[in-house]
Amino acid sequence: MPGHEDFVYLNGTYLPRGKACLSVEDRGTLFADGVYEVVRYVDGRSFAMQDHLDRLRRSLAGVRLAEPKIVADLPAISDELVGRNQLANAKVYWQITRGPGPRNPLLPTDPRPSVLAMTYPCPPLPDEPAAPIRAVLIEDVRWAHCWIKSLMLLPNVLARDEAIRAGAADAILHRQGVVTEATSANVMLVREGQIITPPTDGRILAGITRQHQLAVARSLNMAVHERAVTCDALFAADEIWLTSTTLEVQPVSHVNGRAIGDGGVGPLAGRVARAFARHVQSRLA
Ligand code: PMP
Repeated sequence: MPGHEDFVYLNGTYLPRGKACLSVEDRGTLFADGVYEVVRYVDGRSFAMQDHLDRLRRSLAGVRLAEPKIVADLPAISDELVGRNQLANAKVYWQITRGPGPRNPLLPTDPRPSVLAMTYPCPPLPDEPAAPIRAVLIEDVRWAHCWIKSLMLLPNVLARDEAIRAGAADAILHRQGVVTEATSANVMLVREGQIITPPTDGRILAGITRQHQLAVARSLNMAVHERAVTCDALFAADEIWLTSTTLEVQPVSHVNGRAIGDGGVGPLAGRVARAFARHVQSRLA
């Protein structure tokens, strides 16, 4: 427990985390009927806030949940929470559900959405890639709308557990031999000096880190291709890394026990990680 009170925001009120309660009939709990976002704060300032707000709005539209007015205030609410909770390096979690209602799959005609924001401390922004991890390939059994950042994460949770039981740290998911993404990150690979990553065709989350790292790579004059990646291409890669708001550049040393490249951190991962750290630092708001 930190020396100070940890506040969360719920439906218009800031209150201590232990005092914040959702109804047992919240549709987020009953049906995973809701969406979420995670925003990175570095030294008390946010990165890519507008991108997260835009994606939240797309997710809300994707589940036909009318945007609650308070959504426009989430950036200010997040700043307030990070300040109140005395955090410098943090992630802020936003969750919007369709709110309480009888346990019935019919969409309520007059929903009262629940809007929640809470913070978690996280390490300072690294300017080098993380230590490499092992991954295993697991079939992607999620629905076809993975572009929506929905609360329905059980397949991701079970895939991560399966990976850990297999002695790896994460799963790289594939649909019939075509790579989609990891359980909570996008996948990049390098082959002959070129970066290749699966396209945002709706089967993956359009990662904000992915998008910014691709822009950074292009600014370094690296060739970047957004195209289908087969599992075979993954095994033949010189480098693989995962990207997300909280992982930045997470190299993968082995897939299904087979070494990727020399099993170390590749040169492009290093260059992108360093340039991405500068990119983030120069865009903090
Ligand atoms: N894919 C999935 C399935 C995720 O959960 C995440 C992290 N939320 C990402 C990709 C990476 O997205 P971002 O870079 O916006 O955090």
